[in-house]
Amino acid sequence: MDSANREPLLQVKDLSIDFHTAEGVVHAVNHLSFDLYPGETLGIVGESGSGKSVSSLAVMRLIPDPPGKIVSGQILFHGKDLLKYSEKEMLKIRGNLISMIFQEPMTSLNPILTCGSQIAESLMLHKGMKKKEAMKAAEQLMRDVGIANAEKRVNEYPHQMSGGMKQRVMIAMALACEPEILFCDEPTTALDVTIQAQILDLIKKLNKERNTSIIMITHDFGVVSEICERVLVMYTGRIFEEAPSQKIFKMPKHPYTAGLIDSIPQISDVREALSTIEGTVPNPTEKLEGCSFWPRCSRAMDICKKEDPSVKIIEEGRRVRCWLYEGSAEDTINPDEESVE
Ligand code: SF4
Repeated sequence: MDSANREPLLQVKDLSIDFHTAEGVVHAVNHLSFDLYPGETLGIVGESGSGKSVSSLAVMRLIPDPPGKIVSGQILFHGKDLLKYSEKEMLKIRGNLISMIFQEPMTSLNPILTCGSQIAESLMLHKGMKKKEAMKAAEQLMRDVGIANAEKRVNEYPHQMSGGMKQRVMIAMALACEPEILFCDEPTTALDVTIQAQILDLIKKLNKERNTSIIMITHDFGVVSEICERVLVMYTGRIFEEAPSQKIFKMPKHPYTAGLIDSIPQISDVREALSTIEGTVPNPTEKLEGCSFWPRCSRAMDICKKEDPSVKIIEEGRRVRCWLYEGSAEDTINPDEESVE
C-alpha cells in the first residue's frame, strides 16, 4: 500500500520499555519507531523475547507497572500521545478504537458468561446500546465472523465452543466497536492448519471490507506472507529489518530475516529437515557487546562483536540494522532514536 501523501494512523516513536525482574533489568523494547497507515496490514515478526508482544501491549497501555516501565517514547494515535492519556481516557480507546485478539481465547473469554453477552458488553459500554439491541448485534457479529447457527450459539458458553469457534468469538468481540486498529497476537498458533487458514482469511476480509488497520504479531513468516503488506522484523527489542513483504521474501537483507524465511516449510520442499537458526535468543538480563545477533550469525565479522550497528535506510521503505550494509547506506535513522544504550 502506497503511504505517500497519507497521514499515519499510529506512530510509535523512540519507544523503550524495561522490566525490573529479580535477575536484573530487562530492556524489552529498545528505541522502537514505526508507523501504521489507515487500512494497512503490518506484520511484526520475531522469536519469543523479541519485544513484539510487549510493544503491542504498550500501545494498548496494558504493560503492568511494576514490573514494566515505559522509559521513553511516544505512541501517537491520530497525532495524540496515548502515553499522556488517563486510564479513563484509555477506556474509551481500548476495545473501541484499538482492539486486540490473543493467541489463547480461553484466557480472554469469561467462562461464566455466554459468548453473546461478552460481545454485547462491549457494545453497551462503548456504543450505549441497550441489552436487547446489543445481543441482536452480537448475534449478527457472530454470523459475520462465520459462526453457523449464530441465533443459538449466541447463548452458549465458551466451553461449548471448539478452539476455532472461540477464536471467532474473540474476533467478533474485537470488532464489535469497529476499531480502527486491530492487533492480532499469534491468533492462529493454537489452531490446526485448516482453521488457521480460515481465521487468516477472515482477518483479511475484515481488513478489505472495513478498512481496519491490522498489526499481525507472529513468529511465523508463513502467516506474514498470507496477510501483511509490510513487515518489521524484531530481535532483542530492536528493529532488525523493515520492508514491504514482497521485497523481504524475494530478497531478505538481514541475516536474521533470511534465517526466519528459510525456516518456512515449502510445498516443493525436498529438504529432509527444515533450516533453523542455530542458538537461542540471548539472556535478556546479560549485556552483550556489539550486535545482539552475532553469536548466532554465520556472517558475523570482528566489528559485529564490538559495536552495535545503527539502522540504515537502504532504499525507500526499507531499513536494516546490520554491519553488512553500513557502507552502502544512503542515510541513517535519527541516531538519537536508534542508538543503543
Ligand atoms: Fe550478523 Fe554482523 Fe549483521 Fe549482526 S551486524 S546480523 S552479526 S553480519
